[in-house]
Amino acid sequence: MSFEDYSGVWVFIEENEGKIAPVSLELLGAGRTLADKRGVELAGIIIGENVTGLSDTVFEYGADKVYVYDQPIFQLYRTESFMKALLHCSEKYKPEIILYGATSTGKDLASAVATDLPTGLTADTTELDVEEDTGLLLASRPAFGGNIMATILCKKYRPQMATVRPKVMKALQPEKGRAGQLIAEQIDIKEDDMRTKVLKIVRETTKKIRIDEADIVVAGGKGLGSEQGFELVHQLAKTLGAVVGASRDVVEAGWIEHHHQVGQTGVTVTPKIYFAIGISGAIQHIVGMKNSGMIIAINKDPDAAIFNSCHYGIVGDAFEIVPLLVKEFHKA
Ligand code: FAD
Repeated sequence: MSFEDYSGVWVFIEENEGKIAPVSLELLGAGRTLADKRGVELAGIIIGENVTGLSDTVFEYGADKVYVYDQPIFQLYRTESFMKALLHCSEKYKPEIILYGATSTGKDLASAVATDLPTGLTADTTELDVEEDTGLLLASRPAFGGNIMATILCKKYRPQMATVRPKVMKALQPEKGRAGQLIAEQIDIKEDDMRTKVLKIVRETTKKIRIDEADIVVAGGKGLGSEQGFELVHQLAKTLGAVVGASRDVVEAGWIEHHHQVGQTGVTVTPKIYFAIGISGAIQHIVGMKNSGMIIAINKDPDAAIFNSCHYGIVGDAFEIVPLLVKEFHKA
């Protein structure tokens, strides 16, 4: 395999019901940096039905090129058909890097493509960089239960591939009217050749907002003392229409389920407002919330590390302060 034949950074553009998944826009931002460092083009690849129009957005968010497979067979995501399109495009145009969102679709597709090419895949990446001269992708992710950051390299194969956690990279400001080269591709796959069919789509019925999509997160820590004490967090969250978050120690104590855990081994959140109540501010927690718009910390220890990472800090007992906040917000 001659690496010189491979050039360019690609982002798989995930589309759901006519909309581009936010993580794909974030990856265009990250991909732009990698492509500029290498002096190569950034491309998006869109697969779906009636999706060609989405290419305008992909250009506006930083791509130089967009490859589109716009065919009825791609109306709904299926590993088999999407994988064939991606393999077709990748073998024809030979990118050096392909990035996917670490969503259920992205993870499924990337692993299938990696197996078939074959090439390496770094899953759940949280940091990306590239060696300017060699083009070696430096994809880092927590490893060994989050105790170390591992940088994983794919030295023998091209393209190099990574799935990247949502909300970790930053999308660029879209540049209205920014244009690029649209390349319409087609492949011949017949429905009869497909081994899977989508029989029914069952929509999630819960109206609950996911923590990584919430505008306001009220997170509590071990400082609340007990599951009963943690009720304060639920009260403030309910008053503000927020979603409850927690530190890992709270989750390990069994006060709340793991999907509320914010941090290195939990979820990364970027709400407009993040409350950290009775949370000490360990680095493993901070990495999961540091990009929030406004961070408000309440802690009775004036030297708590959380005060180094917040916009507003209240030194005091959560059991006195939070009921006051609930009362005042109720009035508002
Ligand atoms: P503590 O550190 O015990 O802090 C409690 C805080 O509450 C203290 O600052 C105290 O001053 C304050 N307090 C006490 N009483 C009151 C009161 N009445 N009013 C106000 N404040 C009060 N942690 C995560 O959160 N997320 C992760 O994803 C994560 N991943 C990890 C991965 C690894 C590999 C490791 C080793 C650790 C990880 N941790 C993670 C754990 C992390 O290191 C900390 O142990 C944890 O975040 C501490 O939780 P805490 O802040 O709730 O508790």
